[in-house]
Amino acid sequence: MLTFRKKNMNKIILLLITLLLLNCKSEQLKGEENNFAIAIHGGAGTILKQNMTPEQESEYRNTLEKAIRTGHDVLKNGGTSLEAVQKAIIVMEDSPLFNAGKGAVFTNEGKNELDASIMDGKTLKAGAVAGVTVVKNPIVLAYTIMEKSPHVMLTNKGAEAFAKEQGLEIVDPSYFYTEKAFKALEKVKNKEKEKDSKFGTVGCVALDKYGNLAAGTSTGGMTNKKWNRVGDSPIIGAGTYANNKTCAVSSTGWGEFFIRATVAHDISAMMEYKKLKVNQATKEAINKVANLGGDGGVIAIDKKGNISFDFNTAGMYRASIDKSGKLYIGMYKE
Ligand code: ASP
Repeated sequence: MLTFRKKNMNKIILLLITLLLLNCKSEQLKGEENNFAIAIHGGAGTILKQNMTPEQESEYRNTLEKAIRTGHDVLKNGGTSLEAVQKAIIVMEDSPLFNAGKGAVFTNEGKNELDASIMDGKTLKAGAVAGVTVVKNPIVLAYTIMEKSPHVMLTNKGAEAFAKEQGLEIVDPSYFYTEKAFKALEKVKNKEKEKDSKFGTVGCVALDKYGNLAAGTSTGGMTNKKWNRVGDSPIIGAGTYANNKTCAVSSTGWGEFFIRATVAHDISAMMEYKKLKVNQATKEAINKVANLGGDGGVIAIDKKGNISFDFNTAGMYRASIDKSGKLYIGMYKE
């Protein structure tokens, strides 16, 4: 009696294992068929496990997962990489966790001045905005500048007037206030910190089902910035670049160095002219930034959907869903 039961039990277990393996195989096959992929970052800087509570860590993880899944769903449903980039970035702009949109850092005068840019790898069209104070989602404004104006970049009051004309969502400047960002300004001003050691810009790169690449970046800039300082994030070729021939890139870090090293375009150029692979090109670009004395990170995706993350800071908030549908979320060095 007992051996009979045991035998049956063994059969059932065997059947279950077979079913499980078959399921994995079909998931894998499904994954192999995908020709789209996406990656995001939520800024690079002094992101150390020992400085994070488990609650903070899961807050970041959850928001990164929400953003990457939002972008990925767009691609899965046949949307374009430009749409996916915007949708993923909007999730992070609307979160107080990141230095973009709600949660943006403060200028020396106690204001929030936002920068963003977006680029279409298919047409090499681009849109960028710098120094806006009332536009809820600067990434949408960058996209609207690309699509609805004859220009690539608009700044300050003019950009805000254009946003209003185009019916974009306008908020009171107080919307961007968060205690965390305000305290960071006080710390830097009181010289408790030389510079902002945790950046928090957001960015996204994506490859859609149609083989088109896109990249976007959005930021509040750097804490305590003065004189309408503008960093790399809205500069095409520094903070953002996309070209179907090579890759799509979004940068984050100490913007002055990223401008001087023309990081985003340099990665594309190294792939085009030196035939480097995407991960080799991102590594070399970050080395160039480091050699100048700067720090930060990049995310890039090539025309085949290969994803690369690179940074010379302690950490970088990041996530991806690759062509096989595999989700990855990271914060620290591995
Ligand atoms: N790159 C941004 C800037 O310099 C800051 C950041 O990435 O956090 O404005």
